[in-house]
Amino acid sequence: MKTNIQSIINIHFLAFTMMLGTCYNDSLANAVNLARTLPYESDKPKIVVVIDPGHGGNDLGSITSTGINEKEITLAVAEEIKRQGAGTGIEFILTRDLDQNKTADERVALSKKFSAVLFVSIHVNFDSDSLRSGIDLAFSGQNTFVSNSKELAQQLLNELQQLSGVKANSLKEADFYILTRNPVPAVTLDLGYMSNKSDLDFIQDPRNQAAVSKKIISAIVKYSK
Ligand SMILES: [Zn+2]
Repeated sequence: MKTNIQSIINIHFLAFTMMLGTCYNDSLANAVNLARTLPYESDKPKIVVVIDPGHGGNDLGSITSTGINEKEITLAVAEEIKRQGAGTGIEFILTRDLDQNKTADERVALSKKFSAVLFVSIHVNFDSDSLRSGIDLAFSGQNTFVSNSKELAQQLLNELQQLSGVKANSLKEADFYILTRNPVPAVTLDLGYMSNKSDLDFIQDPRNQAAVSKKIISAIVKYSK
């Protein structure tokens, strides 16, 4: 009797071991298959857009008399674009996701590294005239894809003009290094003037940062179609 019970236990143990072995072999095979297919992932987003939060680290950008830094606003908006952009089919890559120094070359290099289709640099303006206000958009006539850059800027202007609480000015040409050296269509966006109280109040509000981000994504989606 005792022997029979031991036999049954042994048989069950053997069956369990075999089952375990099968599972292990299956998962190993899956891992090998996955490794083989990784470079050819079909579900990887096809469209990559680089979002560049201006300044960072000891480059504060513009600063108000009350100590508000441009670098913090640009990062907040860029992170909001990335957050809202998830699920749009467009992958938003940030040139920095921390408070860190990045050279213009390091920022521009990401366009090539990630095979991006567009580059959008985020800033907030500052002027000695505190009455000067509004969102400014710039593209460069020296960018290889000048007409695409202009088209993207125009699309952004169309969307941003729909915002309430801030005005969007017309397009301008500017030969910023980050635009001229970019290997993809590129635009700079100055989201109002920190030297203007109304603009500063607007862009500091997280709800407005979310609204601005939504419009930027909408413009990029429309441009990409
Ligand atoms: Zn700036």
